[in-house]
Amino acid sequence: MILFRQLFDAVSSTYTYLLGDQRAHEAVLIDPVFEHTRRDTALIRELGLKLRYTLETHVHADHITGAWLLRQCCGSQIAMAANAGARGADRLLQHGDRIEFGSHYLAVRATPGHTSGCLTYVLDDQSMAFTGDALLIRGCGRTDFQQGSAVTLFQSVRGQILTLPPECLLYPAHDYRGLTVTSVGEEMSYNPRLGGDIDVNDFAGFMNNLGLPHPKLMDVALPANLNCGRPSDSSALPDEPDWAPLIFTFGGIWEIEPQGLAELMAGVQIIDVREESEFTDELGHIQGARLIPLSTLPAYIATLGGARPVVTVCRAGARSAQASLMLRKSGVARVANLAGGMLRWRAEGFPVEGNRQ
Ligand code: FE
Repeated sequence: MILFRQLFDAVSSTYTYLLGDQRAHEAVLIDPVFEHTRRDTALIRELGLKLRYTLETHVHADHITGAWLLRQCCGSQIAMAANAGARGADRLLQHGDRIEFGSHYLAVRATPGHTSGCLTYVLDDQSMAFTGDALLIRGCGRTDFQQGSAVTLFQSVRGQILTLPPECLLYPAHDYRGLTVTSVGEEMSYNPRLGGDIDVNDFAGFMNNLGLPHPKLMDVALPANLNCGRPSDSSALPDEPDWAPLIFTFGGIWEIEPQGLAELMAGVQIIDVREESEFTDELGHIQGARLIPLSTLPAYIATLGGARPVVTVCRAGARSAQASLMLRKSGVARVANLAGGMLRWRAEGFPVEGNRQ
């Protein structure tokens, strides 16, 4: 079974695609965005996958790739077009290459025109293809910078993408209206730039008169992407919490595991956000925990102080996750949720007090 996830960056309207082989637990990530590295690594971990490659469809001008940072975190290899002109990639791709993950592979097709180093990745059974900016849903990437060429793009799309089976699903690098997927058949019929009876001269006439402004981030993104997203100084790296071995979840919560909390007990404030009756029910509570029911938490935020980090606790970890988000929003920077709550704490054999026998 192939595992497939479409992820979105709202700032640049970029799609990142995760493809995984569930049996082999191997995955590739197409067009990761630097700022979403934490989200993407959380998803990969939760799905039990090992990231083998990050793949670039091209050198982007509108966002910085997460390729370098993902290599640091996950040990993945950076793959991109040999003629993209970037430094620091692990694998330089040519038309006809295959990127393997488990028993699956993506076939590499050169589809230049938006840039000279644009690639389209086609899944082994041709059921889906990742077109980058060569073909967008009812549109295409611009051709007025980065060695773009309308004539070349026309040939790429008509020769390498729209020749796939009509039912092949096409996933673009961007969509500015929130559209998520199209197909070869649809774009053949309805793409207003590249479909139907439109010929190369019609297309070039259209593309050469778009009059688009340069992308806002181009001057920052291009140099960074030519280094595979490696920042020029470490201040650009995301802050990692240093007070405990925390795990960031795909749901957006910083969590601490029972073992981690047990080792830190004296150095943190444990805030139990259950109701008063639960504090002394059969589960009991963690020694030293302070009871502040979730509904009353806003009134107590000022009393928490910043000296010791906060760990929020509840029965199963849901209310306390909400509490941790609330605290973070209120400016408590060092806060984590106890993963699995009292149920997991007890299941893993850690001590409690105040429990009704
Ligand atoms: Fe682009």
